[in-house]
Amino acid sequence: MSSNRGVAYVRQGLVEVQSISYPKLEDPRGRRIDHGVILRVVSTNICGSDQHMVRGRTTAPEGLILGHEITGEVIELGRDVETIKRGDLVSVPFNVACGRCRACKEQDTGVCLTANPSRAGGAYGYVDMGGWVGGQAEYVMVPYADFNLLRFPDKAQAMEKIRDLTCLSDILPTGYHGALTAGVGPGCTVYVAGAGPVGLAAASSALLLGAAVVIVGDVNPVRLAHARKHGFHTVDLSTDDSLADQVALILGRPEVDCAIDAVGFEARGHGHQGAQHEAPATVLNSLMEITRPAGRIGIPGLYVTEDPGAADPAARHGSLSIRFGLGWAKSHSFFTGQTPVMRYNRALMQAILWDRIKIADVVGVEVISLDDAPRGYAEFDSGVPKKFVIDPHGLLRGVGH
Ligand code: NAD
Ligand code: ZN
Ligand code: ZN
Repeated sequence: MSSNRGVAYVRQGLVEVQSISYPKLEDPRGRRIDHGVILRVVSTNICGSDQHMVRGRTTAPEGLILGHEITGEVIELGRDVETIKRGDLVSVPFNVACGRCRACKEQDTGVCLTANPSRAGGAYGYVDMGGWVGGQAEYVMVPYADFNLLRFPDKAQAMEKIRDLTCLSDILPTGYHGALTAGVGPGCTVYVAGAGPVGLAAASSALLLGAAVVIVGDVNPVRLAHARKHGFHTVDLSTDDSLADQVALILGRPEVDCAIDAVGFEARGHGHQGAQHEAPATVLNSLMEITRPAGRIGIPGLYVTEDPGAADPAARHGSLSIRFGLGWAKSHSFFTGQTPVMRYNRALMQAILWDRIKIADVVGVEVISLDDAPRGYAEFDSGVPKKFVIDPHGLLRGVGH
């Protein structure tokens, strides 16, 4: 029996690389599954979504093996797998989706009705998402492999661009989904809240979709400087100039066509004082303020049903003070939820392979070893302008850059 190692959530603020079981072709309830494959993990990224768990802001159980952003090589096939072959290099959408239920058939793979017995939507290594073991590890099992996996057409070419392709398992489709649902098209003016990896992926996607101008806002000046280096306008919300005023300085009016929340429930307030504290409804309320009447608001930023770390008792159960009346009065549309990665990953793979988007540079990909994962978590949490990519087998050394 082969060995395996993975990144475990030990307790609030602590992750650790541990020896874990080598994956079996079994679901989290121990039932044998013949539609799965075992992957040797080639790259697996740390995400802002993981940080919500590590900061103790969810009900994640201690010992959970983290990792939902996985790219790998197929090394073992279940008996019923038909289209995937041993040796294929594949991107794994972070959603676990069965391909058989109504939601999957309608391309809503973020809310698969089969992958998670307790609520709609499955994912690897995530609280409340069905108990699928995470992929920040040497090896991982992927169920419903024929449906879920995106095979890269040419392995050698894919390894050359692996720092970009690793973003297909989540952040690039998620940013793109945010931009598309916000209605971004040619000539639009766009505001993206959050200059983390998802915000920058949304900003790049907005340009891919033809936006005229993209403004990125954050309370972290280092991340904003990084965004400017990549050609985006920025607004610094840790200053006392309001978002609307700063947008007006750039666009000549305090309004954008399309807005994207790439922050979520751990949002800070605005202004010198406000940015010192969390104020979870800030982003949603400010987007309603600056989005044009009849505009759309894409909300990839994550909101939870239970937040044990919230200061406000209502927010502990996901209730926020949202000024819904303003959105209603302006006929806004809101788009929420887990990204259905499969809807976009093939097209975005082509955009990467044909050099239409340079996502690794924009989000600041930094490749680290599995043993360095705890450092990656800590640095990412401190707000550096980077996206950490774990390379568990040393396969990315010297490729692409
Ligand atoms: P991140 O934590 O690196 O980035 C969030 C950024 O928001 C930080 O730079 C922070 O300083 C900034 N911020 C805080 N308050 C702000 C405010 N009021 N205005 C503007 N910026 C503010 O996380 P990330 O990896 O970029 O992910 C962003 C969000 O997207 C997270 O909530 C994550 O869980 C979520 N996410 C959702 C999906 C999905 O399927 N919907 C997928 C991936 C990530
Ligand atoms: Zn993610
Ligand atoms: Zn399904």
